Amino acid sequence: MAKVTPMMQQYLQIKEQYDDCILFFRIGDFYEMFFDDAKIASRELELVLTGKDCGLEERAPMCGIPYHAADSYISKLIEKGHKVAICEQMEDPALAKGIVKRDIIKVITPGTVTDTNMLDEKRNNYIMCIYKNGEWYGISYCDISTGEFHASEFKHNGEQKVFDEIARLYPSEIIYNTQFKNNEKMLKRINDRFNISHSQYDDTYFEYNACIKKVNDQFKNIDKKMTLTSGICACGALLCYIEETQKTSLLHINTLNIYSADDFMVLDMATRRNLELTETIRTQSKKGSLLWIIDRTVTAMGARMMRRWVDEPLVHRESIEYRLDAVEELYNNVYVREFLREKLKGIYDIERLIGKIVYGNINARDLVSLKQSIASLPAIKECIAECKSSMLMNLKTGIDILDDVYDLIDKSITDNPPMSVKDGLIIKDGYNETIDKLRSASRDGKDWIAKLEEKEREVTGIKSLKVGYNKVFGYYIEITRSNLNLVPEDRYIRKQTLANSERYITPELKEMESTILGAEEKVVQLEYEVFCGIRDTISKQIERIQKTAYAISNLDVLCSLSTAALENDYVKPVFADNGSISIKDGRHPVVEKTLSGGMFVPNDTYLDNGKDRISIITGPNMAGKSTYMRQVALIVIMAQIGSFVPAKSAEIGIVDRIFTRIGASDDLSAGQSTFMVEMSEVAYILKNATSESLILLDEVGRGTSTFDGLSIAWAVVEYISDKSKIGAKTLFATHYHELTELEGRIEGIKNYRISVKEHGDDIIFLRKIVRGGADQSYGIQVAKLAGLPEEVIKKAKEIISKLESSDIIKIKSADDEAAVESSDEDYKQLDFFSFGGNDIINELRKIEVDNTTPMEALNILDRLVKKAKSKN
Ligand code: ADP
Repeated sequence: MAKVTPMMQQYLQIKEQYDDCILFFRIGDFYEMFFDDAKIASRELELVLTGKDCGLEERAPMCGIPYHAADSYISKLIEKGHKVAICEQMEDPALAKGIVKRDIIKVITPGTVTDTNMLDEKRNNYIMCIYKNGEWYGISYCDISTGEFHASEFKHNGEQKVFDEIARLYPSEIIYNTQFKNNEKMLKRINDRFNISHSQYDDTYFEYNACIKKVNDQFKNIDKKMTLTSGICACGALLCYIEETQKTSLLHINTLNIYSADDFMVLDMATRRNLELTETIRTQSKKGSLLWIIDRTVTAMGARMMRRWVDEPLVHRESIEYRLDAVEELYNNVYVREFLREKLKGIYDIERLIGKIVYGNINARDLVSLKQSIASLPAIKECIAECKSSMLMNLKTGIDILDDVYDLIDKSITDNPPMSVKDGLIIKDGYNETIDKLRSASRDGKDWIAKLEEKEREVTGIKSLKVGYNKVFGYYIEITRSNLNLVPEDRYIRKQTLANSERYITPELKEMESTILGAEEKVVQLEYEVFCGIRDTISKQIERIQKTAYAISNLDVLCSLSTAALENDYVKPVFADNGSISIKDGRHPVVEKTLSGGMFVPNDTYLDNGKDRISIITGPNMAGKSTYMRQVALIVIMAQIGSFVPAKSAEIGIVDRIFTRIGASDDLSAGQSTFMVEMSEVAYILKNATSESLILLDEVGRGTSTFDGLSIAWAVVEYISDKSKIGAKTLFATHYHELTELEGRIEGIKNYRISVKEHGDDIIFLRKIVRGGADQSYGIQVAKLAGLPEEVIKKAKEIISKLESSDIIKIKSADDEAAVESSDEDYKQLDFFSFGGNDIINELRKIEVDNTTPMEALNILDRLVKKAKSKN
């Protein structure tokens, strides 16, 4: 049997250990991929698939990319959910005996990207680890580009909580143990709802004793009272995974933040999307989202923190007010706010610069950016020195002015260094004696050469004599053809002939050349070593720098919120302990921006845990029902983030969760029908809502027939309103005017409608919410506004007047009320809709299908059709 070549043997050995990755195998100036990897990469990266002799009968499929262009190819593969293992040559091929030694230096996966070019600077890139042990779930997540690391665990309703956490964090990668993997339903749910790369990680990494040791070794802030168990297993395994992929120490991952999922408002995926918190439903862009309105941050760190705040509104009053008081102080203090914003603009992404220090890919320019950022710190610290709110006072303490780091960079690194750290010109004169000496040797040598040109011109009498340099021949003397007769043949050695000239060297020129080049080479090498030393010195200060970066991001977010509040005319919310939500002149923060000045009509809201728990909101399409409902939810969310809110005044009873059932959902792509999706979302709400929740339901029941829909909507309202079951504050927009019957019948329900004015044949939207139910749908008028052809509108009007006079719609008769009143079970008013009086239906009811022959059936059908036609 044919034997593979030694190099291919080496390849296969390495590949075996990284079989879930695409292996980038360095050969000279290329990364080559072989076999299946080559097939995948050539497809995904549009590379030409070739072959390589590998000792076997068939050539190995192969494709390759130049090493210097690897980043963009890697990021394409990562984006498509692949993992890439980078295998480098570990020795100089020229010096290697036999096959060049190669090894994996790094594995890049979607959650472990550290290259800042591949990352969005305005959002965190999390990798999440889930450990399931019976009913317990441990969770950890980390952004390895910044070093932040969090963990939690839960038992009650664990599966749902894991799901909610995934929705909150939207990690780019998830790893988990076998028990979690075995929950196929859960994995399917993750696949259906999210586009996240996930994989199982070996159970041995989740072993408790090893994990607790790992956690203790990694984090400096672990204390004896630590209560996590499953969470620890998730932390330990995640640390192993990060180490395995990064193959470097992880100095910047030094603080474990243990949190409880109960610290944040729960917002499921559908709600985040429906409320367009960080991106719009239609275009998935930030523009048009809540984040777009309130994110006025000026640093990348601040932008990431702002997104986090929006993604995780708080639920504890003290922590919300802690933020709000700081926002208010900055809101009121123009000077401090504007000064801070100006200074913050000069601050680079310190968090990710620290990551680069740890991963060893920081360059001298980055250090200059760090220095420039540090330069702003004293002024920032001083500026908030007089602030009174506790958060600002604490942030002031958190800022370390890092003067030692500043001084070190300032005296060592040149002000405008090149990108590469291996080409010299990065260390300032005067910082390192040897570098200075070598530089002067090289400088003196160059002076000597410059003088040589003059001297040789004089000696030879050749005025056009030139001393030049190129990489192949080094220094040379160039004489034009016409002067060749004057060349001192005894001293000059001919080296190269060109069309119009000859190039010569002399022994003394070569000697000086080797002094200069030797010094230059040495200086470049030494500069690199000195640079690495500086980098290592700074890496010892990582924790101080991180603390400062954290304070800066918070400050940026606070400034951002106060600026947004001021520019958009927001008000500071206050919090009510009795659970009521009372908003005066509330506005939708995004819609008001999309309408021209003053066009948005503000509306009041009152909801509480008693008589005003559920608002049934009626009104024609386009009246503004869903805008209104979303506006209430957004105001509550903004308040709980710690932001001012778009209203004249707002008193907010803190809510634990917001649920929404609005519009169509993405799940349609997962193969479910609209109605099925709608109902599963409603089911989810009914299962998970509490009396502290806020629920928005828009047109529930629309996806099925009127009867079914109305019955379901009715039953849902009744269920939610029942305090022993849910009792949540709810806004329920509906077309079913019949639901307005519920006011007075069920405690806590109030009717509202968004008013419209009839104007001849048309309607005018007033956008104002008022008490009472609507009794008309104005569907045809809205259709007219939407531009349906006049002919269609006319026909629709004809049909409706016919329908209104027919059996089907002749429902609301004078005795409706009596029927309602008399209902003692299951609200019999639904019977108004029944077709009980219709003789065709009655006849149908009598048919015994099992005892009917096909012929009889046809006869019956014929009779019924004739009857129906005669009624028309
Ligand atoms: P509905 O849910 O009743 O069909 P929407 O909430 O979708 O209606 O509102 C329709 C449009 O009306 C929105 O796109 C918006 O431009 C406008 N609108 C809604 N509420 C207001 C308001 N309070 N002031 C001004 N315009 C509004």
